Amino acid sequence: MQMKNMNDPFYRHSGRFGPVGMMIMLGLGAASGIVSGAIYGALIYWSPIIYLNLIGTIGAGFATGGAVYLGAVIGKVRSPIFCGLGGVIAGCAALWAAWVGWIYAYSAHGDTAVILLKPCYIWNTMAAIGREGVWGFVSSNPVKGLELYGIWIVEAVTIVGGAAYIAYVRVLGKPFCERCRRWAGKKTTLPELRPPQNARVLDGLLTGDVSGILTLGCGREGGVHIQVEVRGCGTCDETHIANISVVAESIDKKGNTETKTTHLVKNLRLSAADYQALLELKGF
Ligand SMILES: [Zn+2]
Repeated sequence: MQMKNMNDPFYRHSGRFGPVGMMIMLGLGAASGIVSGAIYGALIYWSPIIYLNLIGTIGAGFATGGAVYLGAVIGKVRSPIFCGLGGVIAGCAALWAAWVGWIYAYSAHGDTAVILLKPCYIWNTMAAIGREGVWGFVSSNPVKGLELYGIWIVEAVTIVGGAAYIAYVRVLGKPFCERCRRWAGKKTTLPELRPPQNARVLDGLLTGDVSGILTLGCGREGGVHIQVEVRGCGTCDETHIANISVVAESIDKKGNTETKTTHLVKNLRLSAADYQALLELKGF
């Protein structure tokens, strides 16, 4: 697959993965989703602080997505789409566990603690809560009906969507060396380069031509510089993937330094010769 893409100046994942890798990704994601979901469910029952609950909702989604990403890295799943789908599955597991945890905490506060695992029982309980309401922003006026369903939908989208988003984006931004069957995790940040005077340098970059970048000297001009960040395989000399940005620093009215980063190109393949030439720019 990678051979087919060799003429493409930009790196794209091969989309490859094996059944074992997929199981590792889903297993780790779902296990983490169940643990973080159950903790989150109990937390939102006990916590009266709405901001803490909101942070918990986002945290449960992101922690689950992070575990899917970790599983994808261990299992070498090079398909961002399948990682995103893995995030959806693990996110659903987190949401289910959140309801199990919440119902347990709620019932434990009453007469008998119950653990409802079957989704149909949880669904029936949700329907009953939706009709009556059991909590409210004002204690005398419980939230119920459409307002409560709306909150649940936002919560579900945050957890499931957050898990899918994190898993997708993190894998998308991590190149893989198909030749050595390992992630290209060796990061090298090259010296700051002066911004080009000629627009053709930037135009060339968009088509994968880095020769213009090689003519820039080290340093910055007017607080502006070009930043080249390369991720390499570390084992072979074949995979060097560059992200190139313009970084502009300015001082605001209060005297604070503001940094604005504009990405020019992402995931640009560098030949071994171009990578070496970029490293040698340090000598300018
Ligand atoms: Zn390699």
